[in-house]
Formats: sequence, structure tokens, C-alpha cells
Amino acid sequence: MTSAGTVIIGTGLGGFQTATSLRAEGYQESITLIGEERHIPYQRPPLSKGFPLGTQDLESIELRPEKFYQDHQINLLTSERVVAIETAERCVRLSSGARIPYDKLVLAAGARNRLLRVPGADLDGVLYLRSLDEAIVLKERLSSAREVVVIGGGFVGLELAAVASSLGKTVTVVEALPRLMSRVVAPIISEFFGELHTSKGVKILCRASVAKIVGAHGKLASVALTDGTTYPADLALVGVGVAPNFELAGSAGLAVSNGVRVNDYLETQEENIFAIGDCAEHPCAFAGARLRLESVQNAADQAANIAGKRERYGALPWFWTDQFDVKLQMAGISHGHDRIVTRGNLESKKLSAFYFRENRLVAVDSINRPLDHMIGRKLIAAGTLLTPEQAADETVDLKKFGQKLTVGH
Ligand SMILES: Cc1cc2nc3c(=O)[nH]c(=O)nc-3n(C[C@H](O)[C@H](O)[C@H](O)COP(=O)(O)OP(=O)(O)OC[C@H]3O[C@@H](n4cnc5c(N)ncnc54)[C@H](O)[C@@H]3O)c2cc1C
Repeated sequence: MTSAGTVIIGTGLGGFQTATSLRAEGYQESITLIGEERHIPYQRPPLSKGFPLGTQDLESIELRPEKFYQDHQINLLTSERVVAIETAERCVRLSSGARIPYDKLVLAAGARNRLLRVPGADLDGVLYLRSLDEAIVLKERLSSAREVVVIGGGFVGLELAAVASSLGKTVTVVEALPRLMSRVVAPIISEFFGELHTSKGVKILCRASVAKIVGAHGKLASVALTDGTTYPADLALVGVGVAPNFELAGSAGLAVSNGVRVNDYLETQEENIFAIGDCAEHPCAFAGARLRLESVQNAADQAANIAGKRERYGALPWFWTDQFDVKLQMAGISHGHDRIVTRGNLESKKLSAFYFRENRLVAVDSINRPLDHMIGRKLIAAGTLLTPEQAADETVDLKKFGQKLTVGH
């Protein structure tokens, strides 16, 4: 009997990388990559950076040209939605009614935007950003907008604020929490980015909540906050987080919590069904907890992991964001830290924050200090015993320190 091969749900980075890594590992069976979007696989990070800014075009964000999929015998089905997983029959059902059998199934269904639930949120001019189609609309609407209110001071919201401001728009950012990007970065990093945006003319409002979106003559006119203030807007860009796409898995009887639950090998309770990327919740040794991560690194490394021989997944999480001329790179998981020390200074726009938990380095956030980021990744992954004092001391050469300890580790 011939194998039904591998079926992958989702044509985002996780799905793309699974197919690509399987072929690179010499996998000979059929590979079917199914995605509901009409586009061939593309990169999402530029959608809130170079694409709306106009420095990256459609072609440059495709992960590979169309021909790549034919050349590698990857059966790419776009504009097709998987509506059910039939585990007993080992097949998936598409919205068109077709059934596709699998030997192995990979859920790389990603996440979708959380919606803003206030009056007026459905007005024309209230936009979200997850997909390329949404980015195309956003880019076009941004070109004619004058006043932009960004709702959500997380990574995507702030990147969009930087783009809109760079394009000459009047920009206001509304963030409900006391500081920017607070779920992930240290106060000193939030403070730096607050000042950066302010220095470029962006108005940053923290501890501010949207009460309603106000329209006039059928069009978006302003955003009203719960404290009674109102900000005129012809565009409201909402970035208030995402929710994992796990309903398919749940309906098929697979365990779900904050994502599809997988074990150390990224397997669901069905050994031949994997879940990776933004839709999956996996055990993370660096956090000492189960986590669902939303990053390029996580999707790509998890895909490569399941395409190789069966091994525990243990890649170090890392992430980046670009805002104006500043690159922030994050390595490790800072959650639960009990001490932060810094290296560099804010005046030079070059600073790293080192996070320690019980005297162990667990994360490094670097502003325009790429070397700290690269070394930080090595040090954390190797479990290097760097003290907070050494991290803070610019005369300690972390590179040498890292090499010495990593070699002997
Ligand atoms: C605007 C933006 C900027 C970002 N910037 C950064 C950054 O700077 N750095 C970084 O590390 N990360 C960034 N990210 C996050 C990163 O892009 C994601 O973590 C990554 O794309 C996750 O890949 P994935 O394959 O798990 O999911 P996704 O990329 O979400 O892909 C999942 C795909 O599955 C499809 N799908 C879902 N359900 C079905 C179904 N039933 N049938 C068929 N298809 C289905 C979806 O439509 C989607 O195309 C950014 C994300 C966004 C949206």
C-alpha cells in the first residue's frame, strides 16, 4: 500500500517550512500544503514594516517563487479551507467537499486577530492586520489618511504607528496598560520606545481605553476614550493581540488549551498529528512552563524539528521588532525574572537589558546592539553562568566570556 504522505494545514511560515524541510531531509512521499489564503506562502513581518512603508513589494515578501513548489513536488492548494479532520479515516475535508488522506498531519493554522468589541468597531476605516490581503487594503487606505489612531501598543501596533508617522500622518497610540509592549519587555525598554515615538511626533497614551469609535456621514470620524477625550481619525488600526486557530483540532477531539496541546516532540495525543507555530502550545524548558509563542523563530524551528528525526524540541525563543530606525531583538523568555541589569545607555540608542531568574540569565533584550543579542542567545541556550555584575560591566567581553564557558560547558 502506498503512503498517503503528509498533509499540512496552513500556508504560513510554519506550513511552508515544514514542506521545505521535509524535502530537504529527503522525504519522498507526497506533501500537500493547504491554505485558505489566495496567495502563495509569504512572510508576515514585512506587512507591518517595509510593505506599507513602500520599501518592500509583493514579490520580495514571497517565501519562494511559485515554481519552487512544482520543482519540489509540493502540492500547494491555495484558497482552500480545511473544515474537518477525520482522525478515524485519517483524512481532512475541504470546504469544496474534497477529502485528502494523510499518514501524517501537521496543524500550522496560525492565529487570527482578536477583535475590538466597542460600539462603532465595525465602521469603515477600522482595520486589522494579519494577512497580506489586509495589508494591501491598509497600505492603500494609509496613503490617503491624515489622522491615524492605533489601538494597541504592542509590537504590531507600534510598528504601524512608526510606518504611519514616517509617511507623514498624525498618529496617536492608545494602550490600555501602563506601558508599551509591557507583556514582554522591561520598563526601561518600554520607556525608550515611548520616547522614540514621542520624539517623532507620535502621541502615546497609556492607561487609555477606547470607549467607542465614532462615525460621521457613514465614515470613521474619531476615537473616543473612556476618560471622555476624543481623537479625530480617518483610520483606526487595531492591534490588540491574536487568538490561536485551534477549533479544527478541538472538533477532532485533540486536546486544546491556549493552543493545540503538544508534547516535547510537538505531537498531539495522536502520534501522527503535529501542531506547530502560532496555533500550538508546547512545553518550553526555557520558561519552565507550557507556552504558545508567536514568532518567526518558533514557527520555523518547530517546522524543522518535526521534519527531522524524532527529537525533543528545545530551540531558544527569539524575536525582533523594527520601529523607525531602531531594531529591538529579544532572546529567551523573561517571564518570572527577579532582576534586570543593563549594558549601554539610552542616549546612544544602544542598550541591552539582561534578565535574571534566581541568578541565572534567562533573557536579553537589545536595542541596536546585535552582538549582545547573538551572544545572549548563545549564553542562554548553553545555560552559561554569567552573573548580573558581569552582564552590566562593559569591560567584560561577553563574546570571549561566552566562548570560554560554552566550549567547556
Ligand atoms: C503584521 C505582523 C508582523 C509580524 N512581525 C514579526 C516580527 O517582526 N518578528 C517575528 O518573529 N514575528 C513576527 N510576526 C509573527 C509571525 O509572522 C508569526 O509568528 C508566524 O507567521 C507564525 O507562522 P504560522 O505558520 O504558525 O502561522 P500563520 O503565519 O498565521 O499561518 C497560518 C495560515 O493558516 C491558514 N489557515 C488557518 N486555518 C486554516 C484552515 N482551516 N484551512 C486552511 N488554512 C488555514 C491561515 O489563513 C494562515 O495563512 C508578525 C506577524 C504579523 C501579523
